[in-house]
Amino acid sequence: MNIRLLGAARTVTGSCFEVEVGGHVFAVDCGMHQGGKEAEGRNREMALYAPHRWEFILLTHAHIDHSGLLPRVKRFGFDGPIYMTPPTQALVEIMLLDSAHIQEMEAQWKNVRLKRRGEAGEVEPLYTVEDVHRVLPLLKQVDYGQKFSPTPGLVVTYRDSGHILGSAFLEIEAEENGRPLRVVFSGDVGRPAQLIVRDPTPLEEADYLFLESTYGDRDHKNEKESLDELAEAIWYAFRKGEKVVIPAFAVERTQEIIYCLYLLFRENVIPADIPVFVDSPLAIQATDVFRRFKSYYDEDMMALVKRGEDPFRMPQLKYTLSTEESMAINSFVGTAIVISASGMADAGRIKHHLKHNLWREGASIVFVGYQAHGTVGRRIVDGAKTVRIFGDDVAVRAKVFTINGFSAHAGQRQLISWVKTLKNKPRHIFLVHGEYEAQKTLGALIEKELGYPVSIPDYGEKISITVERAPMWWKEIEEEVPTVDWMSELIEIDRRLAEIETSKTWLKSPEAKVRLEKLKERVERLLAG
Ligand SMILES: [Zn+2]
Ligand SMILES: [Zn+2]
Repeated sequence: MNIRLLGAARTVTGSCFEVEVGGHVFAVDCGMHQGGKEAEGRNREMALYAPHRWEFILLTHAHIDHSGLLPRVKRFGFDGPIYMTPPTQALVEIMLLDSAHIQEMEAQWKNVRLKRRGEAGEVEPLYTVEDVHRVLPLLKQVDYGQKFSPTPGLVVTYRDSGHILGSAFLEIEAEENGRPLRVVFSGDVGRPAQLIVRDPTPLEEADYLFLESTYGDRDHKNEKESLDELAEAIWYAFRKGEKVVIPAFAVERTQEIIYCLYLLFRENVIPADIPVFVDSPLAIQATDVFRRFKSYYDEDMMALVKRGEDPFRMPQLKYTLSTEESMAINSFVGTAIVISASGMADAGRIKHHLKHNLWREGASIVFVGYQAHGTVGRRIVDGAKTVRIFGDDVAVRAKVFTINGFSAHAGQRQLISWVKTLKNKPRHIFLVHGEYEAQKTLGALIEKELGYPVSIPDYGEKISITVERAPMWWKEIEEEVPTVDWMSELIEIDRRLAEIETSKTWLKSPEAKVRLEKLKERVERLLAG
């Protein structure tokens, strides 16, 4: 079996593995690359994908970094079935339509700017709503635990990975030279005890495991602490009569935050009359999907539903679907909680709410999810004094809260525990879907604690695996290495450090201290050569 890494290699986004076995070619996931110009350039490099060769696609879950290029590969020649669980299908439909809409709007906006500057050329959207309508008929349902054979000589089983509603890890059994080869693609692995969804299903047996490693270098705080932090953020803004703005992924995180607010209201931890606006058409549609697929809930949520309670219908909640309703939130006087997307503050209505509230002392901005490099969210979390939104520099005066405990990803220890559920010793583990530093930490830990060999493949590499010998791999895609002006990079670091030195707020953040310690270690290593 050969596996080519077309994304999520030494980075988090763009999950896509091209698998070649017994003369058949297919893909596992087909996600969008996110965060920065280089990543976005990869979304347009369809020649690397060669989707006309793919017989089918196995989709682990609905998140855009796993599904976001499906309309594009369809446009560039893919025409086979795309397998996924029923909730994933419902979510993928709304997410791709939303994504296409964003692509179209952004292209339009860029073209207006080009024209205004008198420049030639035109930006094409990555794909359009029409492209999405062409790919939707290809979606096919397969449920957890149901073994199926998408092509002769291959058996695939979807198992609950406990990450978001409908998310799966894949067990793939292929026959090579008369011997079975078992490969597991983890997809994204959830955090045990997560709200709403079930815990990740234990692993069975695998010769090779492709393991996500988003939080390979840290553990999450516990749930109780996160609830307390959320309450603190709400009280902070409430005392000043300002708003609480929560950028949240439309799928899962938004529903989880609603659930948390439901718990805080129920226990009278926060004032009962604060309105909660769910201001994202996608999040509103996703919440509907959650209400439709109750049989995929975990026990606690199920018990709640059986008692006739519905967190998604609590009286404080207001779903603002129309643009007018959304804009009215800005003129709303007094404290309100605004949950909006995108989760990394790079697109969608959240940008308006940040523009209106970031500069307001007394407002709370609450990050409850992963912020990729190069995104607006990451810059705010990293302590930027101003960020650019809609072409304007907006000062960051609101209090920024980063709550890690809500992650839909397993933390370091939880990933190791999940790997430990394997009933056999795998021949090799490949770490994917993580930033390189985090991957190195996790890799070293797995090798030390479990004694399994680990590698961290790079973008464009092709790996050959069999049951007979150690894996081999080579680089298939040669990228141009950009020349870096190291001196000006260092001057930039210098300038930023000076900024931190003059800021008094950062000292209060224990996370900032930990990061600074890590930086210190790296600088020392650099100097030591
Ligand atoms: Zn995901
Ligand atoms: Zn992912």
